[in-house]
Amino acid sequence: MKKLCLIFTLLLFFISCSDKQEVKVEIPDPALVKEEPLFYAVYNNDVNLQTPKYGQWLYEHKESGQTFEEYLKLKPVRPNDSINTIFIQPFGEFTNEETETINKTAEYVKLFFGLNTQVLPLKADNSVPDSAKREHDGSIQILSPYLLEQTKKAMPPKGIVLMTITKKDLYPKDDWNFVFGQASYVTRTGVSSIHRFKNDLPDSLNSNSFLSRLINVTTHEIGHMFSIRHCTFARCLMNGANNLNETDGSPNRLCSNCLKKLYWNLRFDNIKRMQQLKDFFYENKLWRDHELMNVDLEILKIQNKKNRK
Ligand SMILES: [Zn+2]
Ligand SMILES: [Zn+2]
Repeated sequence: MKKLCLIFTLLLFFISCSDKQEVKVEIPDPALVKEEPLFYAVYNNDVNLQTPKYGQWLYEHKESGQTFEEYLKLKPVRPNDSINTIFIQPFGEFTNEETETINKTAEYVKLFFGLNTQVLPLKADNSVPDSAKREHDGSIQILSPYLLEQTKKAMPPKGIVLMTITKKDLYPKDDWNFVFGQASYVTRTGVSSIHRFKNDLPDSLNSNSFLSRLINVTTHEIGHMFSIRHCTFARCLMNGANNLNETDGSPNRLCSNCLKKLYWNLRFDNIKRMQQLKDFFYENKLWRDHELMNVDLEILKIQNKKNRK
């Protein structure tokens, strides 16, 4: 069984059951009211999901999505003076090109979430005990829950989330082949592996697709750490994905519903953020995402003009 992404649903269940207090949401939230036309404009560009086919995430997982109100009820972590930095921990031995791609991913994460983002000094992966690794298909895999547990203890001061990127392949349980990424919003830690991101590509395509996959999985997992669950409203970065084909088909764009959740949490300047992401896509020749961001920005500029009249 191959799975791309796993959240700790059991932990989610525990939190839901143990917290019976209703969350008081400030209504109306003035910042949200102000941005509502913007989310509506983005909604017009949302693309419906197609009926899932055999082997795809939604074919195997009957998920119902997460409304904005359901999101608020999870009491997502929010940045404050004490915790406000995203940390990225490279784990293993990387080539120069891989290190460069991880650094670029950190640049992207900073623009995507609008939070200070730092890459921590490299950690070797040779201290992983035998009980937390195995050999599979001729390569060594690391048990991802072990890494999540370890990284929980390693959260630096100021850390709001800690994302580990491994060179080696990952597996979440003995009966799973592998997992590309795993995150917990309870511990605010996540892990993803680059092991399978380059294998199936000719050299000339590697750099561009490798970056696209790494920024996709990294921001998806960090999205989970901010309590955003899988999206079933439209094509979106937060859609679940079962294989590399689904990852490659997943846009590096949030649908209007997920964008609203992230905005509620982080209060960035929506248009500035989109412009910076568009520039990043252009500089790195990620043309599909550049076009998607361009279309969103165009509709927002029209919306802004209307608002000023
Ligand atoms: Zn996921
Ligand atoms: Zn979404």
